[in-house]
Amino acid sequence: MTMAASNGSNGSKGARASYGKGQSIGNGNGKISPMAEASALAQQVADGQGGGVRADAPSPVEADVDATLGVMKSAVRELLVGVGENPEREGLLRTPQRVAEAMRFLTQGYNQSLETLVNGAIFDEGHNEMVLVRDIDLFSLCEHHMLPFLGKAHVAYIPNQKVVGLSKLARIVEMYARRLQVQERLTRQVAEAVETILEPRGVAVVVEATHMCMVMRGVQKPSSWTVTSAMLGVFQDDQKTREEFLNLIRHQPSFH
Ligand SMILES: [Zn+2]
Repeated sequence: MTMAASNGSNGSKGARASYGKGQSIGNGNGKISPMAEASALAQQVADGQGGGVRADAPSPVEADVDATLGVMKSAVRELLVGVGENPEREGLLRTPQRVAEAMRFLTQGYNQSLETLVNGAIFDEGHNEMVLVRDIDLFSLCEHHMLPFLGKAHVAYIPNQKVVGLSKLARIVEMYARRLQVQERLTRQVAEAVETILEPRGVAVVVEATHMCMVMRGVQKPSSWTVTSAMLGVFQDDQKTREEFLNLIRHQPSFH
């Protein structure tokens, strides 16, 4: 689990999630500047209301988020008890909070939308050659075990006039990866997203990933990895185009 949590931020390639509603979740616990705090205090003193209405009282939305986080925390506590641990043990005291926050972060794709994500980054370039971004780091959670799967995504399209900023392709992968997923659906969703925003002549997506639910439990095949692909438009219809794409991404899997 640690691996996914720490890699999750690497994988974002500087994508600081400044586009999501989920942003308030991560830093919800009072990033109030000393100045603001001081002036709020001063205001309270002036109003003669010592510990009265707090200037940083959570908004209804934040209160909602807090309530959900509370539910998640108690669920984690129960999990700890279930595996025979003592949640009061010092090392575990803040674990429910940490796990709940980590899960929030790793599933923040639920709070993002394609429209907001690509907002303003579609250009009419008249470019009609294949555009390929390969080796996009990918970190997700399988919906069957809620364990990480991680690897690389390769996304290509052949434009029909419209192109999108290259970093947006990585963002699209990230948005769908940060949900509970199965690799096949993730692959298809990325392809369909590119098709929706660009109406290109074709889209190809290949995802190579290794699943912790296979590696760490059950069959325990540490080196097993799964490849899924989605081909739309000319990539599906034209074998030559498809082969060109597959040749361009052919390489040793680089996530070992
Ligand atoms: Zn699984």
